[in-house]
Amino acid sequence: MSNRRKIFKALALGTISLPFAIRALTGDMNAQKGGGSPTLADQKRYEWKMTTTWPPNFPVLGDACEMLSSLIETMSAGRMKITVYGGGELAPPLKAFETVRSGGAEMGCGAGYYWAGIAPAAQFFASVPFGMNAAQHTAWIMNGGGMELWQELYAQFGVVPFLGGNTGVQMGGWFNREINSLQDIQGLKMRIPGLGGRVFDAAGGAQVLMPGSELYSNLERGVIDATEWLGPYHDTQMGFHEIAKYYYTPGWHEPGTALEFFANQEKFDELPADLQAIIRSAAYHTHLWCWMEMEKRNAEALSSLVEKGVELRQFPKEVIERFRTLTEEVLQTLTEEDPFSARVYASFKQFQSQAYQYAAITEKRFYNELQVQ
Ligand code: CA
Repeated sequence: MSNRRKIFKALALGTISLPFAIRALTGDMNAQKGGGSPTLADQKRYEWKMTTTWPPNFPVLGDACEMLSSLIETMSAGRMKITVYGGGELAPPLKAFETVRSGGAEMGCGAGYYWAGIAPAAQFFASVPFGMNAAQHTAWIMNGGGMELWQELYAQFGVVPFLGGNTGVQMGGWFNREINSLQDIQGLKMRIPGLGGRVFDAAGGAQVLMPGSELYSNLERGVIDATEWLGPYHDTQMGFHEIAKYYYTPGWHEPGTALEFFANQEKFDELPADLQAIIRSAAYHTHLWCWMEMEKRNAEALSSLVEKGVELRQFPKEVIERFRTLTEEVLQTLTEEDPFSARVYASFKQFQSQAYQYAAITEKRFYNELQVQ
């Protein structure tokens, strides 16, 4: 298709404005006289800001934001530049979604459950207790109808979502006393956010919320009895192994938390189609990189934690079963309170049910045969 036809097509599709088309056509004609072949979007350059939920220079998750920015700049031949700001540099960490929504930044990064107060259904696009693992969750979003629901949900806030990484199955957390029965959960003060926290509360524990920066000192001083964070790599960075004795598995509350990028819808819609495609492609690339980097670093860090003498423990069956039952109740309440959550959960649950049946005869049986050396 000639450049001129592309411009007319973009105009007809409404992806560019008339003044922009005229400028592009003029540029096209001038260039043709000069023998060049400029592309449509050569006409305009974009400088965007990205506000993130992560502390500045946060390993892997923050690196993913820089990677996205760098990919977009390279793929667009410098036509689009995105400057990344750590949490607190441009906006408070947990205000990233609202900042992008209001146009204070064109893009943001975080995880859906951080905006549960604004959009309860966003939690399904991050992770729910006893939900899907990273591969299953990615499959649901990319190819199983999740993305359409996610876009519809965020469109209500003038925001466009993209996958931006996955933590993989998280760890169950750091404890200074052993959990041998449900009795040991009673009154236990644990930092555990989101739906997992509601389940923990319902089981008799005491959910505590506090910023990541305060976790080490509060666990050390006994203000909290336990905390979860991410996985072995980031937990080691926090130094929890220095002050807590037992490291529990599995992370029943976050079986594969998806991270996300998001853009201001109005700003995104202003972009020519090729830059929109570049952002989508760069986000998918970054999603995969971040997820795989977590897999790699967590595996390395776990061996090193074991060498340091950390005692690994597994939640007893009784505790896990109670958490599972209570998760169903918490999700039931959520879907009764919020109609959009009911729609998303129906899609999520249907996909999960099939994915579990498949995994039960493939991955699960394979893992049963694992010989750990
Ligand atoms: Ca976590």
